[in-house]
Amino acid sequence: MKSDIELITSEGKRLDGRGPEDIRKIKIEAGVLHRADGSCYLEWGGNKVLVAVYGPREAVPRHTQNPLRAIVQARYNMAAFSVEDRKRPGPDRRSVEISKVISEALEKVILTEQFPRATVNVNIEVLDAEAGTRCAGLTAAGVALIDAGIPMRDIPVAIAAGKINGQVVLDLGKEEDNFGDADLPVAISPRTGEVLLLQMDGHLTVDEFNQAFDLAVKGCHAVSEIQKKAVMHKYQAIAAEVQE
Ligand code: ADP
Repeated sequence: MKSDIELITSEGKRLDGRGPEDIRKIKIEAGVLHRADGSCYLEWGGNKVLVAVYGPREAVPRHTQNPLRAIVQARYNMAAFSVEDRKRPGPDRRSVEISKVISEALEKVILTEQFPRATVNVNIEVLDAEAGTRCAGLTAAGVALIDAGIPMRDIPVAIAAGKINGQVVLDLGKEEDNFGDADLPVAISPRTGEVLLLQMDGHLTVDEFNQAFDLAVKGCHAVSEIQKKAVMHKYQAIAAEVQE
């Protein structure tokens, strides 16, 4: 990561006109796929993500079963056409890492103890990528899990904060991610504040880390409101249909 590229103008605006604490535009729709148990389509700035949830269902092969609780298997995949230069299809080190950290984050909120020997599959397909896709994927997964009716302690939510040109900002865009100083993706349970995922790329001082972390938590709460609206929107529509 290098910081010699100007990412903040003399007026204090970022390249896309945002202020330091502004989040890119987010659109969330729950229940977009008919064959999945739960699903979500999410647009976050230039990111487009589709999530399909299956389960809880019996884990196969049987040796993968845990007799005490369900296992959560998230699979993060970037479409070949999601980035500027065509990406080689299939898993790579990055997608294996992201799948692992998202699985572990979701495992902390899903009531896995209610479903021994079962699996919950969360398929995250990134259709368009413009930085922050792991946070977008995890946020969409939270809504898709609710849509699937899977019992959870809370709806998990994520956003990244970071540092560009020496300044701490929220929700890094593509150039900010590529040419900034640091990137700090954070996922929390908004109800309890429990940290579900925390990663860091680049360098931050302790003060900068604390500032970025607090900003990310604040951002998570803002995104959480959009998640809840998406869930409400779907179930209000169903309730209206039933009444008719
Ligand atoms: P995140 O998407 O969670 O921020 P990274 O920091 O690893 O994860 O990636 C930042 C951005 O870099 C991605 O959102 C995507 O736009 C781009 N990117 C990631 N992998 C590739 C790739 N294989 N080819 C081209 N661009 C990529």
